[in-house]
Amino acid sequence: MSIKFDIQPAANPTSEKDRVAKLADPGFGRVFTDHMAIVRYNQAKGGWYDARIEARANFQLDPAGAVLHYAQEIFEGLKAYKRDDGGVNLFRPDANARRFKDSADRMAMAQLPEDVFIEAVEQVVRIDRDWIPGGEGSLYLRPFMIASEIFLGVKPSSEYIFAVIASPVGSYFKGGPAPVSIWASENYTRAAVGGTGAVKCGGNYAASLRAQAEAIQHGCDQVVFLDAVERRYIEELGGMNVFFVFEDGSLSTPPLGTILPGITRDSIIALANDAGKTVREELYSLDQWRKDAASGKLKEAFACGTAAVISPIGKVRSVSGDFDICGGAAGPVAMGLRKQLIDIQYGRTNDPHNWIKKV
Ligand code: PMP
Repeated sequence: MSIKFDIQPAANPTSEKDRVAKLADPGFGRVFTDHMAIVRYNQAKGGWYDARIEARANFQLDPAGAVLHYAQEIFEGLKAYKRDDGGVNLFRPDANARRFKDSADRMAMAQLPEDVFIEAVEQVVRIDRDWIPGGEGSLYLRPFMIASEIFLGVKPSSEYIFAVIASPVGSYFKGGPAPVSIWASENYTRAAVGGTGAVKCGGNYAASLRAQAEAIQHGCDQVVFLDAVERRYIEELGGMNVFFVFEDGSLSTPPLGTILPGITRDSIIALANDAGKTVREELYSLDQWRKDAASGKLKEAFACGTAAVISPIGKVRSVSGDFDICGGAAGPVAMGLRKQLIDIQYGRTNDPHNWIKKV
């Protein structure tokens, strides 16, 4: 499907002086650019219509809008990177477009054609390219879709709003890629077979907050969830996938099913395979993790996702005891893969899998 975006630049964009001040220390997710993309959907009107790039502004939502009651909402997260030559790279936007479609399917929402998703993202990057920080920063893009039909019955909405907003970001974890500590929650689970764990719907994140709060109460940075049936196997963090590195040089990561199929996860599997490493997608229990860390069989563990790329895991805590990995330090495999991915994202090296889309 092709759709033409009506481009209406903001009448009162941020001044250059204010923008430069905001870009000096943007943090994560609090500073926003001047524009957004919007595409509407109405079943009765025959589908997607009214595609626009316009000034970022509040939505008009009726208090009976379906999303406000039944959480029919999905989102994505990807980044635009400024290359040294001044150009801009998107990393695997086609993979985000596909996952967005899968999320829509699971949540019984209208499916946005992948080319419209990518076009909306590119248009926002183009109009707000001055907002992309240099150095280690990037422009975080947040495509999302909400159910907007005015109806209190529990059924799939017949109307949707798709939008893309953009937020310049610095480093996700304060202090950069320093090892993180994680709390293995034995009270709360994230997803069960047949549920929504494999898609990016807002409800998954609402349901993870209590466990994340528990992690912080125990002095940890992030929560790691265990499987919902046996409460033994590692699944993923609240917003990142997990990898384990063993003394024989192989890696393992939990299998797909109830976890989000991370694009960083997929990219790491490809890069590790390129390097001739074995990567197993297999169940791995918290108990085994503890034993392997103690015996020295496990050399490293790391979390991965768009926001932080790769974060080494230095410490694991749980009600059944704490243990350190790699002496609490960042390991060479995690840091090597991190550099490799970042170099591809910023266009500092060749791109063997054609992951980069230049904007
Ligand atoms: N798991 C969850 C629950 C997430 O929210 C994310 C972030 N999208 C990830 C894993 C990592 O996915 P990606 O590499 O595509 O950012």
